[in-house]
Formats: sequence, structure tokens, C-alpha cells
Amino acid sequence: QAKEAGRDKMKVFNRRMLDKAMQAMKLESDLRAGILNDELYLDYQPIYCLESKEVVGFEALIRWNHPERGLVMPGEFIPMAEESGLIFELGRWVITQACREVKSWLNKYESATNMVVSINISGRQFSQPNLVDNILSTLVEYHLPPKNLKIEITETAIMERANQAVEMLTKLQKAGVLVSIDDFGTGYSSMSNLQEFPLDQLKIDISFVRRLAESPENVEIVKAIINLAHNLGLYVVAEGVETEQQETLLRNMGCEFGQGFLFSKPMKLAKVESFLNGDISLCL
Ligand code: C2E
Ligand code: MG
Ligand code: MG
Ligand code: MG
Repeated sequence: QAKEAGRDKMKVFNRRMLDKAMQAMKLESDLRAGILNDELYLDYQPIYCLESKEVVGFEALIRWNHPERGLVMPGEFIPMAEESGLIFELGRWVITQACREVKSWLNKYESATNMVVSINISGRQFSQPNLVDNILSTLVEYHLPPKNLKIEITETAIMERANQAVEMLTKLQKAGVLVSIDDFGTGYSSMSNLQEFPLDQLKIDISFVRRLAESPENVEIVKAIINLAHNLGLYVVAEGVETEQQETLLRNMGCEFGQGFLFSKPMKLAKVESFLNGDISLCL
């Protein structure tokens, strides 16, 4: 009897594993099709200057409108895209789409002139030898000034390819594209070699911002990150700002910019355009 029960368990276990593998394969082929079928789009989340309370730019965040499942968030498919290699195609799509949309804002709205739009570059994408050329040639193709574009890369992605990274980031920066470290504080970089990399900005990870009001120790950690950034000549952005208390603490610590639900959730393209046109002001 024990043997039989064991066999049954085995069956269930294998069945589940098989289901999971099949689901993963379906998601991958769905995404492949989704890129071709226009199922992807970008939302834009405003980035605020904490001092002037003005929007200075947006972060482009990818979304997938799946024909059966509806909205799928990047956390569910970016890791799979990285694993399968689909990230290369998807990454090119993001670069092109962002450049095209931002250029059209510049054509239509004077208020967009100095807006900087960030795009996320994930680890494997960053290891692509032609990534920088792809970005620079897309800027040329859409006549988008490089100063309107920023790339966000995690410290882990940079440190894992430290030698290439210096070269790649230098080339981008020389061309006028801005560079930001994303999710700072979560990676394994030793803070000491941060200075080797040409960077413009450091983005404090949401986990530090979330815990900010909870304990004085967390305030000290964030203070240290901000000081480190300033000593290296970098601006600081805090991601995931949800409360006024967090905003006040950050501003008092000298953090220049903030991004989070307190200011605005990521917005659809049409809403960004209404905002740039002056039809709506984001509640502050
Ligand atoms: P990320 O680059 O760190 O982006 C910030 C994430 O925090 C976004 O989640 C955003 O919606 C969310 N967020 C912003 N403000 C708040 C807040 O106040 N509270 C909370 N709880 N969350 C907030 P999202 O859009 O789900 O993106 C998740 C991650 O997926 C991104 O993290 C980024 O790593 C990746 N990702 C998004 N778009 C792209 C893309 O186009 N390419 C690549 N390679 N990765 C992307
Ligand atoms: Mg980001
Ligand atoms: Mg981030
Ligand atoms: Mg994050």
C-alpha cells in the first residue's frame, strides 16, 4: 500500500512539473507572437523633482496585453525573456518604441523639451555587443536628442560585465545619453568600485524607501547611499515613494528626485499626452 501511495505521489508530482513546463513554453511562444502582433506597450511613470515639485521625466515600463490572460506585468515575463533570449528582440522593441513616442511628444508639446525618459536594460540585454550602437542608431533614425534618453541598469548587470560596461557606458555618455543605476543597494557590488563607471544617477531601491519610516537605522542607510552618490557627483532618485512622510524624509536628506504612487502610478500614453498638453495636472 505504501508503495502504491508513493507511486501516486510520484504521478502527481510529475504531472505538475509537466504542466509547469508546458505553461512556460506556451508563455514563451505567446510572447514571441505578442511582439509581432503589437500586444506590447509602454506605460510611463512620472519622475518628480522633490524641490520644485515638477515632473522632469518618465520611466518607460513595459506591459503585455495578452489575448487570453489580459494584462501581464513585466515581473512575469522579463525573467522568461532573459532566459529564452527573447529579451534581445523585446529590448530592441522597447528602444524603438520609446524613441518613437518621445520624439512625437517633442514634436507636439513644448513642455516635453527637457523631459528625460528612462528605459530599462536587463542583464543579458546589457551583454549584447551591439546594444550601444543599436541605441545610438535608433536615436539618429528618430531624430531624438540623446539628452532626452536615459538608460537604467542594475548594479549587478554592470558588475557582472565590468570591463565591457565601462566601455559601453562611456560611449553612451559621450553621445549624451544619461545613465542610471537601478535598484541600488540590492546588488552585490562593493560600493568602492562604483567610481570606475561613468554614471549620472543612482536610483535607491524601493525596499529601502519602504522601510524608511520604520526605523532610524534605515534612515541612516539611505543617508549613506545619498552621500555616496553625491560624493561621486551623481543625482539621486528614490523609487517607490508612497507616503508624504517618506517624501519629506528624502527631501530633507538631499535626495533630488522621487518616483512612486504618491506622485503618480505609471500612466498610459494618452494620459501622458494630456499631461504634456496641460489638460490635466497630476495630483500633488
Ligand atoms: P524597476 O525598473 O525597478 O521599476 C519600478 C517598478 O516599481 C515598476 O514596476 C513600477 O510600476 C513600480 N512602482 C513604482 N512606484 C511604486 C510605488 O510607489 N509602490 C510600489 N509598490 N511599486 C511602485 P513594474 O512596472 O511592474 O516593473 C517591474 C520591473 O520590470 C522593473 O523594475 C524592471 O526591472 C522590469 N521592466 C519593466 N519594463 C521593462 C523594460 O521595458 N525592459 C526591461 N528589460 N525590464 C523592464
Ligand atoms: Mg527601472
Ligand atoms: Mg528600479
Ligand atoms: Mg526596483
